[in-house]
Amino acid sequence: MQRSPVLYWFRNDLRLHDNPAWTRACALGRPVVAIVIAPSLGAREMAWGIAQVGAARHAWWWANVQALGQALGALGVPLHVVQADPCTLLPDWCQVWGTRTVVCEDIAAPYEQAQVAALRAAGLVVHSMWQSTLMAADQLPYAITDLPPVFTRFRNDVERAGVPAHTPLPAPTPLPGLAWATAPVGASDVVSRWDASPAWQPDPRSAFQWKACAVGGPDTDGTLDEVRAGSRGGQEYLRRYLASERVARYKATRNGLLGMAYSSKWSPYLAWGALSAPELLAGVRAHEAHHGVSDGSYWLWFELLWRDYFRWLHRQWGLRLYRACGLRQDPVPRLAPHNHRAFALWTQGRTGCELVDAGMRELAHSGYLSNRMRQVVASFWVHELGGDWRAGAAWFEAQLLDFDVYSNQGNWLYIAGRGTDPRGGRRFDVAKQTAVHDPDGAYRALWSAVA
Ligand SMILES: Cc1cc2nc3c(=O)[nH]c(=O)nc-3n(C[C@H](O)[C@H](O)[C@H](O)COP(=O)(O)OP(=O)(O)OC[C@H]3O[C@@H](n4cnc5c(N)ncnc54)[C@H](O)[C@@H]3O)c2cc1C
Repeated sequence: MQRSPVLYWFRNDLRLHDNPAWTRACALGRPVVAIVIAPSLGAREMAWGIAQVGAARHAWWWANVQALGQALGALGVPLHVVQADPCTLLPDWCQVWGTRTVVCEDIAAPYEQAQVAALRAAGLVVHSMWQSTLMAADQLPYAITDLPPVFTRFRNDVERAGVPAHTPLPAPTPLPGLAWATAPVGASDVVSRWDASPAWQPDPRSAFQWKACAVGGPDTDGTLDEVRAGSRGGQEYLRRYLASERVARYKATRNGLLGMAYSSKWSPYLAWGALSAPELLAGVRAHEAHHGVSDGSYWLWFELLWRDYFRWLHRQWGLRLYRACGLRQDPVPRLAPHNHRAFALWTQGRTGCELVDAGMRELAHSGYLSNRMRQVVASFWVHELGGDWRAGAAWFEAQLLDFDVYSNQGNWLYIAGRGTDPRGGRRFDVAKQTAVHDPDGAYRALWSAVA
């Protein structure tokens, strides 16, 4: 008799290689049902009158799901892409398939934690695995509760302790005789296949130029200046990037605003998990072994560590990171009521401040924004317009194709001075930023008054 299947729920880990949770699900020796749930539905309502998932973010997600579907298809495994609330869909599916076992990655943000809690409350056995950081929790130099409040201390301690070398896990291939589950009779009652391909095209001015993965074909036709979605597209881009001079130049160029070359553009792959963070770090280490350590290669590690730090902060503080006052103990000045008009003008790039407006238009039209411009527009919203940082974070969440709950929340708290930053916030002088980062006005001209 065939054993009951395991439901594998792909969340922000849309890859088969270097995915411990997927490897574990496959290793159980039971048929695996692969499911992705569209982020746009069954999602929380946004308090600020905006959609949770904008067109660019949705399009990039979909391109990565298509790539995953192709990779699974090559193994004979159907990917079920569904629009539904996971808390009702997964128990229904488990009933239809006669199983209670769900495997997925662990996400330490409150909304995602609540989803898993609801599934457990519904009687499912959910194995959720933490796997989005460079190291496991027990490889940190201290317990998560003792995480230092300052990034520099964290970095020094981690560098002193060292990060174990990582060999990326290969994608498991089906074991001989393992029957992969396809939709059983009756499942169509609860299955709603996602077949609406969003009509959204990347903006030719965008600093992140991408295409969907080639259907059935190799993804080797991506270049350093135009990448393909999905794991194979990401791995090909990573290979080219690490073989290029961009690595060594990274520290010097990373505050750029225009084009693909100034920063790594790894975040879109990391956000949906087409590439894993440990695999990126392994790539940096292999580059260093071959080309030597440079300021650029060191700084890529440094930034990946910031990403980790914000993840561990979520594990440490959870819901407290979502309060208006963040982690601050001292009384913060009362926030003025949300100014809908100012918020609308800021989101539309119509504040009257040229640099900020160019940045907000780039964000809305492309779904991507350089780190420097993220800092400038966030600072403007919080410190010049007196806005609630959580509204700004929500707008970024909807727009960014590399939206990552940990990095977004962490960076907004940092700018607002409500996180762990000892300096109490970051206010960016727009005139100075303009003079340093857009002295010839090329960036402002590129994103000036777009339709
Ligand atoms: C207000 C604000 C909101 C942000 N929201 C997000 C978000 O939702 N998702 C996201 O991935 N990043 C976010 N960032 C961090 C950063 O801007 C992006 O990671 C970076 O711009 C992505 O481009 P890149 O991959 O070319 O980065 P690179 O400069 O090439 O950096 C390499 C990698 O290091 C990590 N990294 C770099 N800078 C940071 C940082 N400040 N914090 C955390 N990780 C970092 C990223 O994983 C990045 O891919 C935000 C920054 C600010 C100021």
